[in-house]
Amino acid sequence: MKLLCDLSLEKLGALLKQYGQPSFRAKQLYGHIVAGRELDEMSNLPKGLVAKLKEDGWRALGLTIRESYTSEIDGTVKYLYELDDGNIIEGVLMRYKYGNTLCVSTQVGCAMGCRFCASTLGGLVRNLTAGEILSQVIVVNALNAGKDRRGVTNVVLMGSGEPLDNYDNVTEFLRLLSDEDGLNVSKRNVSLSTCGLCEKMIRLADEGFSPVLTVSLHAPFDEIRKTIMPIACRYSVKQVVGAAEYYFEKSGRRVIFEYSMIRGVNDGEDCARELCALLKGFSSHVNIIRLNYVKERGLKGSDDEAIDKFRKILDNNGVSCSVRRSMGSDIEGACGQLRRKYIQDGEYKQNNN
Ligand code: SAH
Repeated sequence: MKLLCDLSLEKLGALLKQYGQPSFRAKQLYGHIVAGRELDEMSNLPKGLVAKLKEDGWRALGLTIRESYTSEIDGTVKYLYELDDGNIIEGVLMRYKYGNTLCVSTQVGCAMGCRFCASTLGGLVRNLTAGEILSQVIVVNALNAGKDRRGVTNVVLMGSGEPLDNYDNVTEFLRLLSDEDGLNVSKRNVSLSTCGLCEKMIRLADEGFSPVLTVSLHAPFDEIRKTIMPIACRYSVKQVVGAAEYYFEKSGRRVIFEYSMIRGVNDGEDCARELCALLKGFSSHVNIIRLNYVKERGLKGSDDEAIDKFRKILDNNGVSCSVRRSMGSDIEGACGQLRRKYIQDGEYKQNNN
């Protein structure tokens, strides 16, 4: 399937030129795509052009919303999208006072194998293209934006997949997302989460991309990290923090470390103290969240007391941190859980070829 949303305005112009179209047509078409319209809904385009594009296998967007679930607790919305090849991915829209944050997926499944994460249970199915990642923002924005209502103002690459394992498509997505003629989401409002692929973190900084970088650390000791994140066998904790420091120096943006508290695994006083030693002098921030229980994984979240104790040690040692509340817990808000449930319930057979 050929997706028009994969193309920048410039590339769209080049394509339309091949169809003998005047140059203003590209902006018209681009506007329709960004507004979430499919080719048949673009009423002011010449019918002949629409027919020809379709005949040649072009589509505007890469997915449709198949289902959505709204949390009764906090208004968080979970979306299940269906891609053109039948694969299913998911996303979450979180509503805050300052705006609406959409969490997007970057791959179908994931190859990283983190022991606590539902997204990786079936391995990596395939990378998403830049347009497929962008389409998630476009369709949710189109649903939510309108008179007196805000669309998507912030984007976090924290859904299924490892963004830096799909580097070229993800960086192209970052370009398209902040295009002033397109969705125009401010670069300041974009966060990218990685399990710590060090060379790619450095490359991202060197190439001048500057999303807020969120690094899933989850343990300050290599021995513990290796038991929960296979990637820790490739990069040591020191290397990961070193790459994060490099990113900060190059981009000027404070790095955030994610720390999911797992009962009896990484929530002890020794971990808290080692984390303080590790981050001493590095102006970063630690986000502590309780692990969301994933049935297939058997690992449990830490209790309030352990979390509180952990946070206090960080506070007392001058390590900036906050305990994040988990949103949408009544709608399987955590990574990959909804897609997994959906596929397993047998309502839907994943296209895995
Ligand atoms: N691959 C990227 C982004 C996707 S996961 C990464 O590893 O950062 C987004 C965040 O959710 C990561 O910090 C990940 O470690 C965390 N996560 C995954 N499963 C979780 C669970 N069951 N409970 C809490 N956090 C989880």
